[in-house]
Formats: sequence, C-alpha cells, structure tokens
Amino acid sequence: MTDFERLRATLPTGLWIDGAQTDPIDGGTFPVYDPATGTLIADVADAGGKDAMRALDSAAAVQEEWAATAPRQRSIILRSAWEKVIERTDDLALLMTMEMGKALPESRGEVNYGAEFLRWFSEEAVRIQGRYTTSPSGSGRIMVTKVPVGPTLAVTPWNFPLAMGTRKIGPALAAGCTIIVKPAEDTPLTMLLLAEIFAEAGLPAGVLSVLPASNAAAVTEPLLADPRLRKVTFTGSTRVGKILIEQSAQQVLRTSMELGGNAPFVVFDDADIDAAVEGAMAAKMRNGGEACTAANRLIVANSVREEFTTKLTGRIAALTVGPGSEDGTNVGPLVNEKQRRNVASLVDDAVAAGARVRTGGKSVDGPGYFFQPTVLDEVPANARIVREEIFGPVAAITGFDTEAEGVAAANDTEYGLAAYIYTQNVDRAFRVADKLESGMVGVNRGVISDVAAPFGGVKQSGLGSEGGTEGIEEYLETKYVGFA
Ligand code: ADP
Repeated sequence: MTDFERLRATLPTGLWIDGAQTDPIDGGTFPVYDPATGTLIADVADAGGKDAMRALDSAAAVQEEWAATAPRQRSIILRSAWEKVIERTDDLALLMTMEMGKALPESRGEVNYGAEFLRWFSEEAVRIQGRYTTSPSGSGRIMVTKVPVGPTLAVTPWNFPLAMGTRKIGPALAAGCTIIVKPAEDTPLTMLLLAEIFAEAGLPAGVLSVLPASNAAAVTEPLLADPRLRKVTFTGSTRVGKILIEQSAQQVLRTSMELGGNAPFVVFDDADIDAAVEGAMAAKMRNGGEACTAANRLIVANSVREEFTTKLTGRIAALTVGPGSEDGTNVGPLVNEKQRRNVASLVDDAVAAGARVRTGGKSVDGPGYFFQPTVLDEVPANARIVREEIFGPVAAITGFDTEAEGVAAANDTEYGLAAYIYTQNVDRAFRVADKLESGMVGVNRGVISDVAAPFGGVKQSGLGSEGGTEGIEEYLETKYVGFA
C-alpha cells in the first residue's frame, strides 16, 4: 500500500454540511484525477442546488450565534485549526500533490503558508476596532462599530487548494461570518479534509460548509439569488469573476474578487542580474507557473537582456520535470489537459509570431499533463502570450530601452495584480513602484505573498484585499449609531 492509498482510505469524500459528511440529495459523484498519471484518485460527492440550500439553511441558522460567540473563542478555534493543519502537514501536502500536481516540497510550503492565515486571523479576531467621536457641531455623539457581513459564499481555485481557502475562511470566521466553500472541481479533497480538521478544532456545526460540485453554477446561482447570503468572495479567472459580480448585483452582495493577472517582471540595466535571475525563477516557476502572481512577462533592458536570458535559460533547462511525489522533482504536471493545451497554444502562437525558443517549448509525451519548462526570447508585442495569463512553466522575454518604455510596457495590460522590478537604484525603485498600475509591487524579490500584507489587484485583477490587517475588513460592515 502506498502512502497515498493509506491516506485515501481515511479521506472525507462526501459533502460537508452542518458539521458532518453527507451524501448529495441527488446522490451523484464526480471523478478527481492525479494529473501526473491521469488516473482516478477518488470519486467525490457532487453537490447541486438543493444541497446548496441545505448548506445555507444551516449557515443561516447559526449565523447569529456565531456572530455573538466571544471573539476570544473564535480566536481559540482558529488557533487550534492552525495547530492541527500543521500537525497534518504530511497528509495535506501529499493530498495537494496528488490532486493538483505540484512538487511535494511546494505542497509542504503551501500547508505552512495556508495555515498561517488561520494563525494570523486568530490574532485579528480579538482586535476588531470601532470608534467614538462627537459631531463637529457638538450636538451629537457618534459611535461606529464593526459587525459581521453575514453568510458568505467562497468560490476557490485549484492552484492553491488549501491557501486560497484559508485566506477566506480565516478572516470570515474571525469576523463572525458563516461560510460556504465551493472548491474547484480539480481539487475538492483538500478542502474537505480542512473541514474535518476544523470540526476537530471545535468549530460549531453549520459555520463552515464545503460543497464540491462538477457544475459550479448549479451551486453558486441559487445561493447568490437567496437574500440570506450576504457576501461572495472569489479567487479565479477574470471571466468567472465578472459572472459572479453580475450575479451578485441581484442581492447587492459585498464582493471580494481575486482575479487574473499578467504580472510584469521588469529588469532594469542597473539590476543585480544574478539576483534578478534568482527572483525570476521564483516568480515564474513557483507552483509550476500556475499562480495569478506568476511573472507573465519578463521585460528586460536590452543592454542586459542576453546576459539575463542566457543565465535564466541555464537554470530553467536544468529543472527536473516529473510527478510531484517523486524525490528531486522541481516541476510537476499541469493540473489538467485543458490547461496544458492552453499553454501549448500560447507558446505555438508566440513562436509563429517570431519568438525564439531558448529551451523547451513542447508538451512532454507519455501519461500525465507535463509541459517542458520553457524560455522564449524576442517575444513580439502582438503575441497572445503577452496579453493572456500563461499559467504554466513558460518564461516569455521582451526587451526595452528607456525607463519610460519599461514602465509603459509593464502597464500595457488590463490586469493589475502583481508586478516585480529589479534595480539597485533606490530612487528608481520608488519612482517606478509609484507608476506601476498594480495592487502589489515586489522590489528585488520574486515572491511577495505574505500573510501580513494586503493581497489584491487593481484594474481587471479584482476588488478588495486578502490578508494583512485589511483582510478582515472585507468581512465586516461599518455600522453607525448616533446618540443625542
Ligand atoms: P481557472 O480558469 O483557473 O480554472 P476558474 O475561474 O474557471 O479558474 O475557476 C475558479 C473557480 O470558479 C472554480 O471553483 C470553478 O468551479 C468556479 N467556477 C467556474 N465557472 C463558474 C461559474 N459560472 N459560476 C460560479 N463558479 C464558477
């Protein structure tokens, strides 16, 4: 028996409603595959609209009590969940590698990162502040308090199956909201295991539900149409984000949207090139490139472009591609065949438009959804790869001459999530960081996500922030009480 078969025998695969596993009313299941082999790893309960209503019934029934639960008690439950997630690192990491494909050390990293949101928001739960002041006229007193928004729907993606959930569940629970999670269909098992861990940590039934579904809209549409739901929080594509924003207009819901990105990674002529290559490896290859913060466009000063490209190509060509569960793997498979086809078509389109392949460029033959780590240089501005999210291990390099050209190229996108700059000139760093139209800027670093920092985008990359002291505000309403 393999480690995974042993784990598999204990995993929840039902819906998680009202504090326990349960079968869908219609009794259906859907398959979850290992992207490294294409083989089935589990059949998971398939929620429909009636199940969504069961989950909302139970969330609405306990909303008031959960909101009235002492912040210290909510904090203790979150803290306990953090401890239990860390204790289960091996299981959660292996599970994410099996359902999503990333290399095991990266999955372990995600367990740690994902768990941090539970610890951080356990600390924030007891620090929700209001204010008290008097009217300028002296005739009235003003009390401002924060109250939980109420029952929340979270729709999460497959690329970080744990962390994209905890980044929403942590602040929602800390604020006193109940939450229903619809995990991505490729990776529902991680979220189900997290629900079980929360129950062990003492979370009351009904506060958290998890509804895996093969048809996302069958679950989300009836929830969004129900006046008891008060918020939707989403991480995923801009396309689906727009659908959810539109649908959330029916009940005028609060929305938090972490949508697509097209991150520029700008290397100026005064950069430490070795550091820039190191940063690019992280910004591009972390999670196999399947991150909305991944460097999508490497925009490199022409005077240092060949040196940077040669060094980066050497590093990327040396990466080991293989099943995420094998020792020594750096880059696992893409999550599914659809994703791999998209990466291949972006590369083919760029090459047809004139890009040069420095390494890689093709899908890997055989089972699983592997794609060669790839470097493309001289990518023309009209190639789709500089407009669309790649979500794969492909570095696309373009050049520029002046600082103004570099900044203009970086901002030439409807997205605005993350941006990275490399320069040793501190004046330039401040100047350029100010000019970049993005919610997050990394200066001389290739990874910027941090539990203590607000994660979020501008333009079509989204609305609102997750993490930091800002993250909990997304789950709180401001209420004013006026006294004579
Ligand atoms: P990706 O392109 O990265 O797969 P998606 O935006 O398609 O991202 O998916 C992110 C999440 O949104 C998943 O949980 C998916 O099931 C869900 N989703 C997809 N389509 C819809 C829809 N029409 N309504 C609600 N949720 C959806």
